[in-house]
Amino acid sequence: MNLIPTSLIVTRFAPSPTGRLHPGHAYSALRSHDLARAAGGRFLLRMEDIDPGRSREAFVAGIEEDLGWLGLTWDGPVLRQSTRLDAYRAALDALDAAGLLYPCFCTRADIAAAATAPHGPEGAAYPGTCRALDPATRRERIAAEPHAWRLDMARAAALAGPLRWHDATAGLIEADPRSFGDVVLARKDAPASYHLAVTVDDAWQGVTDVVRGLDLFEATHVHRLLQALLGLPTPRYHHHPLLADAEGRRLAKRAGARTLADLREAGADPVDLVGTLRAGRLPHSFGAMLGGA
Ligand code: GLU
Repeated sequence: MNLIPTSLIVTRFAPSPTGRLHPGHAYSALRSHDLARAAGGRFLLRMEDIDPGRSREAFVAGIEEDLGWLGLTWDGPVLRQSTRLDAYRAALDALDAAGLLYPCFCTRADIAAAATAPHGPEGAAYPGTCRALDPATRRERIAAEPHAWRLDMARAAALAGPLRWHDATAGLIEADPRSFGDVVLARKDAPASYHLAVTVDDAWQGVTDVVRGLDLFEATHVHRLLQALLGLPTPRYHHHPLLADAEGRRLAKRAGARTLADLREAGADPVDLVGTLRAGRLPHSFGAMLGGA
């Protein structure tokens, strides 16, 4: 029987199974794991596998293997976002019923070609082309064309009013989602976008503390807005610095950094690796192994 109180702190690690983990992911997983464990709380693992074009079963298994190699354990079954499509649909329906969504038929090329598109945190903000379509045209085109669903940001932000969220390092933050423009909540090729799925699932899983990299700091403005619109609680946020190599380059898959699987194959000691990562550093002894292509 487990006598440790586990209800106070719930954290999660939520990788997208689109590749193997690298030490930057390990650092994030450790910070999330340690925050929960230090408080006798729960640490959850969630696979953000709703991108059918990029998610792979082999990476799901590989990520679990990588975490096991690091000696990390998680509580309960792994949540797969691909099993949560009804929940995302219900959230979309609620936002639609509130008049906050519209279908968008634009291609990337259409959006890039719109000369007036202002720049937001995720690139060119959507110029609003499909926002003004009349209901009859919408119905006709929905039946005939692939479409995404976008949030009418101005209307949503006005409805929600001023919002705040808390970051462990940055303190109290005024939510400022407007610079994102009309974000996509359901994609043409996926039933929910990252913003929607992450917000719905953090609430559903009772996550009290979201630990993730500073690269997602801005996205939290959008998540805070969605929480308000959907009547969901707001977790505390802990955005941590991204681990960089000796040259200050961020360790990312696309930069060709070595994965944990590569390190393991090269004979790295996971206990040393975890100890150094916990100190917020990259292990010097692994410098050559980590070098990247
Ligand atoms: N699935 C996201 C990623 O792998 C992280 C989501 C989050 O921590 O909010 O980048």
